[in-house]
Amino acid sequence: MSVDLDARQRAMLAEIGVRVFAAPARAAATAQVVPAARPQPSAAPLRAAPPMPRDAPALPSRAGGIELMEWDALAQAVAACRACQLCAGRRNTVFGVGDPQADWLIVGEAPGEQEDLQGEPFVGQAGKLLDNMLKAMGLERHHKVYIANVLKCRPPGNRNPEPQEVAQCEPFLRRQVQLLQPRIILAMGRFAVQSLLGSSEPIGKLRGRGHEYMGVPVVVTYHPAYLLRNLADKAKAWADLCLAQELMRGQPPAEST
Ligand code: SF4
Repeated sequence: MSVDLDARQRAMLAEIGVRVFAAPARAAATAQVVPAARPQPSAAPLRAAPPMPRDAPALPSRAGGIELMEWDALAQAVAACRACQLCAGRRNTVFGVGDPQADWLIVGEAPGEQEDLQGEPFVGQAGKLLDNMLKAMGLERHHKVYIANVLKCRPPGNRNPEPQEVAQCEPFLRRQVQLLQPRIILAMGRFAVQSLLGSSEPIGKLRGRGHEYMGVPVVVTYHPAYLLRNLADKAKAWADLCLAQELMRGQPPAEST
C-alpha cells in the first residue's frame, strides 16, 4: 500500500515507529510501509461515504430524548447521566473532543484513569501516539477529527464494560454520529470494534475491509495503548489508516503489495 507523504508526515511515521521507504517511481513523494501485511480488500469495498440514512432505526427512548438533542444539551445530559452503575465511580464524564464538522470520527472503548481525571479521551502516551498517527495523515485532533468513546464513564479498574452499560450509553454515541455525520469512523481496540459492529470476532479478522455503522463506513484497527505494547503491529495500524483514507476518498483499496 502506498500513500503520498510529505516530509513532515514521514517524520511523524518515524515518530510512531513505522518504517517507510521511497518507492522508485515517485521517490520524492511516495512512501511505503514495510513489512506490514496490508489488509486485503473486501469483495465489495465501500466506495464512498454514503449519506446518513433517513430511515435509520429510532434511538431508544429514554428520559431527555437523546435522539433530539443538540450538542450543548447532549454534553449536559452526559455530564448529568446516572443511567448505569458507572456513574458511581467516575470523577469526570468523558464526552468527546474535536471538530464538530469532523470528517473523521475516532471511537475508542471507555475512559481510563487519566481520561477520567482529565475528562478527555485518548490522553497520556496512547493519546500522544494517536496524535502522531493523525499527524502522519495530515490531520489534527481538533481539526476535521472528533474523538469519542463508546462509554462516557470509566469502568472501575479498567474492567471490560458490561452489556447493559453499553446499552445505556450507546444512544449518546449514536447521537454524536448523527450530529457529526462523519465521512469515516475509525474504531480502535477490540471492545470499540465489537460494540460498533455487533461482532464477537477479533480485530485481526475484522480489519482490512470496510464495515458500516449507522450508514457511515467503519475501519477497524488496534488501540494505541495496545500498539505501545506490541510495536510490530504499528505497521498494520498504519495500513488500516491508509485503508480508511482510501475509503473516505471514495477510492477502491489499493492492491496488496
Ligand atoms: S457510562 Fe454512559 S450510561 Fe453509564 S452513567 Fe456514564 S454516561 Fe450514563
